[in-house]
Amino acid sequence: MKYKFKNHEIKRTCDKAFNDYSSYKSYLMKDFSDRCAYCNLFDKSIGISFEIDHYIPKKAFENKRPELLSLYDNLVYSCKKCNQIKGSQFKGDVYSVPLNNELFYNPSVVDYNTIFYIDEFGTISSDDEKGQSMINLLKLYRPINNLAWICEKLNESRFRLNEKMSILDTSSDAYKFYKEIKNTITELYADLRDYFIANYNEIGVYN
Ligand SMILES: [Zn+2]
Repeated sequence: MKYKFKNHEIKRTCDKAFNDYSSYKSYLMKDFSDRCAYCNLFDKSIGISFEIDHYIPKKAFENKRPELLSLYDNLVYSCKKCNQIKGSQFKGDVYSVPLNNELFYNPSVVDYNTIFYIDEFGTISSDDEKGQSMINLLKLYRPINNLAWICEKLNESRFRLNEKMSILDTSSDAYKFYKEIKNTITELYADLRDYFIANYNEIGVYN
């Protein structure tokens, strides 16, 4: 079983130029649909703000092409973990057009759906050699990513049940049946989500 890695397209819609790269954050949020470009985590799911990753890292460009610090095309919306783990890993030419860090597909140039998928266990997987290398370099194999995916699926199920219930008479047996399932899923979702947040923030041991 292969599930799609993501359901959105990454865009580059900001045509403004700021000196301070943090000014781009609201544009990044919108252009990346509130999701980490590398692991696809939804930013509202962890209760903390995401970060701005430099696709070509600072260490690689600072003495050669300092303008990459605040060039929108070099900025990537990223969760804290992916940003930390990616760090200053770089291979290639800082002058390449479009920007290319040979270790990682550029998420604005390459559709990650053509590289990654989610397997039947909720694990981020790839049949592509560089994709597999990225999974290792970004540690996308960690169980916390499975947990994030499971939480998201449970949440989607709650919304689907809500839709089914919205067209039913609240006194019908079918409505009561769906409501019971929804309550069970909601409890499970709430528990796993708390567990996920604690572990993402390194309070637990499951990260
Ligand atoms: Zn991430």
